[in-house]
Amino acid sequence: MKETVKDICINEFDPNALEEIEAINKIIGAVKPLESSEKVCIKNALHRTISSTIRAPINVPSFRNSAMDGYAINLNDLKANNFRLSEVGVSFAGKPFTSSLRKGETVRVMTGALIPKNADAVIMKEMVSSKGKIINFTNNIIENQNIRFIGEDIKKGGIVFKRGDEIKFPSLSILSSLGIEHVDVLCKPKISFFSSGDELVPTGKKLQQGQIYDSNRYLLRGLLEDLPVIFSDLGVVKDKKKYLVKKLQRASEISNIIITTGGVSVGDADYIKDALREVGSVGFWKIAIKPGRPLAFGKINSSYFFGLPGNPVSAAVTFQLFVIPAINKLLSRKREKIVLIKAKSKNKLKKKLGRTEYKRAIISMVDDEIYVETTGLQGSNIMMSMLKANCYIRLSADVSEVKKGDTVEVMPFSTKL
Ligand code: AMP
Ligand code: MG
Repeated sequence: MKETVKDICINEFDPNALEEIEAINKIIGAVKPLESSEKVCIKNALHRTISSTIRAPINVPSFRNSAMDGYAINLNDLKANNFRLSEVGVSFAGKPFTSSLRKGETVRVMTGALIPKNADAVIMKEMVSSKGKIINFTNNIIENQNIRFIGEDIKKGGIVFKRGDEIKFPSLSILSSLGIEHVDVLCKPKISFFSSGDELVPTGKKLQQGQIYDSNRYLLRGLLEDLPVIFSDLGVVKDKKKYLVKKLQRASEISNIIITTGGVSVGDADYIKDALREVGSVGFWKIAIKPGRPLAFGKINSSYFFGLPGNPVSAAVTFQLFVIPAINKLLSRKREKIVLIKAKSKNKLKKKLGRTEYKRAIISMVDDEIYVETTGLQGSNIMMSMLKANCYIRLSADVSEVKKGDTVEVMPFSTKL
């Protein structure tokens, strides 16, 4: 489908809108990291954030062990015995052979088993021939082959985790391999959200003419559920300033971040900005991006406030671009540079100058070449464009046209395998 024909929403250039990067910098500058921490069992620590330095209490591995099922030998002794040794014992993982090798001896070793102190190589089982307990070796053995050394993975005393590090699946493996059962993590930020709009009806009710189901609260739930946060769904508020003021005030008593959707634009029923001004302060409220130009950022007491646009695609994009950095800052997380991939556009794309655009698209690879194709209509109300997508095409403010076959920058949705 040609979006240039169907996407008839016209967005004029707005010289007062903040640039995307300026807005992110303002948010990051304003948000102060949370201080409080708690101790949790590593079983419940996935995606939490380390609150203080963790040093390795032991070496990993803590003893020299075999990387293969095979035979532990001493190279000088092997040469002296013409590459023929007699097997004098077996070292199992957890049931070690604890003596040293004597002249003419080899020990059968399993993967992960302790190897004798004076052994300096392990030869794979498949590389030897044997007759009873007499083992014949080849002469191409290299010193230290197939030996795992003390501390080669993690050195005792070294820093393994720092404040702000996210606990990922390898972190759980590492913490447990160090024998650490509990970790100090930063407390989860508290996030409240509500929708605003007279047309919104909760699911389960029958729609009257002109009404729509409130999907943004489910959208936000879907976005927040993956994050180390505690969230509260505060429902729907009518388009009335005094109701918004009351709700915002109450939300600020229980939240580090408050998110609303809708009512943030310049329509006759858009009261979010006025309400924010009454209970707190407005940092900015317009950003030069599409989708998502109206976005109010501010403060209410000690809570940070995000008034996201009502259109679902805009709400999702602005959440990802602006709310996630704020959550990361609350959690003292390092600012990671977004990886953009270059791909050939399968579509001709048009846009207005002066705004960064995020088009929903599918990235694919054909014969070593990376291609990207938009997912149909790109209106900010078209959630199906997001459902089908696996990436955004990011078109910067100074681009006005992309020809079919031109290279564009692509932001994949996830780096998960
Ligand atoms: P607004 O930002 O309030 O002007 O809303 C912009 C568009 O988003 C309108 O078409 C609204 O009906 C729609 N919208 C606002 N809030 C929601 C919501 N919670 N769920 C779904 N659509 C919404
Ligand atoms: Mg509205």
